This record gives sequence, C-alpha cells and structure tokens, in this order.
Amino acid sequence: MPVTPALYVRQEAAESSPEDSSLRCLLCPHSCLLQNGKSGICGVRKNEHGDMSLPFYGHISAAAADPVEKKPLYHFFPGRNIFSAGFYGCNLRCPFCQNYHISQQFPGEGQETPPEELVEAALRENSIGIAYTYSEPLIHFEYLLHSAQEARRRGLKNVLVSNGYLNEAPATRLLPLLDAANIDLKSFSNDFYHNELGGSLEPVLRFLELAATRTHLEVTTLIIPGKNDSPIEMERIATFLADLNPDIPLHLSCYRPMYRYTIRGSTYQNLAPLLDTARRKLRYVYPGNVPGETNTLCPSCGELLIRRQGYRVSLHALKNGSCAKCGLHIAGVWE
Ligand code: SF4
Repeated sequence: MPVTPALYVRQEAAESSPEDSSLRCLLCPHSCLLQNGKSGICGVRKNEHGDMSLPFYGHISAAAADPVEKKPLYHFFPGRNIFSAGFYGCNLRCPFCQNYHISQQFPGEGQETPPEELVEAALRENSIGIAYTYSEPLIHFEYLLHSAQEARRRGLKNVLVSNGYLNEAPATRLLPLLDAANIDLKSFSNDFYHNELGGSLEPVLRFLELAATRTHLEVTTLIIPGKNDSPIEMERIATFLADLNPDIPLHLSCYRPMYRYTIRGSTYQNLAPLLDTARRKLRYVYPGNVPGETNTLCPSCGELLIRRQGYRVSLHALKNGSCAKCGLHIAGVWE
C-alpha cells in the first residue's frame, strides 16, 4: 500500500539533525512524545527517523457481516447487517477488555486491506455500510478517514464503535463522515478512568457532546459489580446524556470476567435498578447481554415498536419513524 502521511503530529526540537526529532502525537488526549524508534501508548503510531509512521495502516484483524444490533445500535436500520472491521491496538488499558487479544496484544499483522477493498467487501456482503469496531478504530484515524470517504462515495453508511478517546480537532473532522456511533461511557468517575483504564473522563464527555449533534449516537456502559454500578453513578451518567438529548439510547450491558478482571459477572438483577434509574432521565434504555426480549416501546403510549430476541428483529408499530398508534416521532435512523 502507498505510504500514508500521519495527521495531527507536531515535530519537537531536534537534538542535532531532523532525524533525531521527537514527535508529539496530537490525535488523542495522551499527547505521546515519541523519540526516534518509539511507538505511542496505542502501539500503532511510531517515530521513524523524525517521521510518524503508521505500521498498521490497513491491517485488519477481523472482518464479518454482523447484525447492526450487535454493535449495539438499536435505533439505526433495525434488522440489517453491517460489514464490521477490526484493527489492532488501543489507547486505553481496560483490564476487562472483551477483545484484549487484538486490542492489548498484537498476535499477527492482519490482512492488509486498502480502504477501497474494504468498501468492495462491504458491497459484496450487501450490507448497509461499514462498522469500524472490535478493537479501537480511532487510533487508525487516517485509515478511517479514507475508508469513510470512499464508503460515502459508494453509497454506504459509516458506523463507529469506540471508546471516544480522541481530541477535539480530529473528532470534528471525522464525525461528519459518520452516520452512527456507539460510544462507551465506561464510568462517570475520573478516578476509574485514570486508575483502571489509563485515561481520563473529560475527553470522553467532550467527544459525546460533539457526537450528539453531528451523528446518530448511542452509548454503552458495561456494568461491572462494585466498580461502576452505584445508583449515584448511574444517575450522573443518565443526567449527563439527558442534558445532551434524552432521546440518546443507552445500553447497560452485563459484564463477563475477561482479561485481567476476575470479578464475578453481572446479571439482569444487577442491571434492573440501574435501568430504572436511567429511565427516569432517558427515553430509551436497554439491557445488554441478557437472555429474553429487548424491545423498543413508544415512550408516550407504550405501544410495541420493535421486538428483539437475540438478533431476531421484527418491526411492529413503527411506521415512517413514528409510532403508528400515537404518532410520536421516534428518534433514530430508519429505512
Ligand atoms: S493516538 Fe497513540 S500515539 Fe497518539 S497520543 Fe494517542 S496513544 Fe499516543
């Protein structure tokens, strides 16, 4: 593949020659300072003799046509498939990462796939578009831009599934190319972000603010017993999102022990009081990773709009984006 110049890089003072320059990466809030030969925290951006190289540009770790509900997106083309591509690396260090084998480890180099080929693959699968997902897509910012532009040009949708840990300038550049995003809000505690995830809360909140006005936004919080499951914290999460827009769908998902966490998994019983708390502020709050049905009801009259059982989806009283019974407009992107 042709060499792609990295964006959001600043050259710092050189010791002797330009090749000795340190580089400051301005893509995400870590602002890594990279000496020659060193990579940033994410592991995918590297100073090579004073130039920022992208050794994992276009290296796809996994690709599959998934139900859009798996992202999860519940108010975006329900029942349709979206071609989903994953990368390597991450700029956070979540000890409960559900995809740690590609986010925290680099088991291989993946399939080198130029953006045009990714778009062709999505078209062949007859999917509505491309979801950038599985590991952290934002650290592959240049590839995302190229692929999202090409996907748009070919009539496909772009979906981001991410931790939202990105600086404001790149965020405002990328968001207009996105048709939908599901962003993790892993906690409302800066201590949790700092001590457990190796990041900070504020940039994620800022990303959510930007996304809420620029694309269809849904939010996911993985509920971890004893870590982020207090009613006060859920009240803060729901209040923050409701201030942005009470129509933002919030997914409260059960956590399973994974990677470095051995804390017992959460169950629907853990979620139930938190669902109640969040529903006092937000119109659409869903449990995730639980058995049984997860349906969308009209927030005004209670009519069944969309029935979901696993990834089986059926539309009921949703007509042209409104409740067929009472006429309330239902927030989302519908066919
Ligand atoms: S994108 Fe990677 S290299 Fe750049 S600041 Fe973030 S962690 Fe560091």
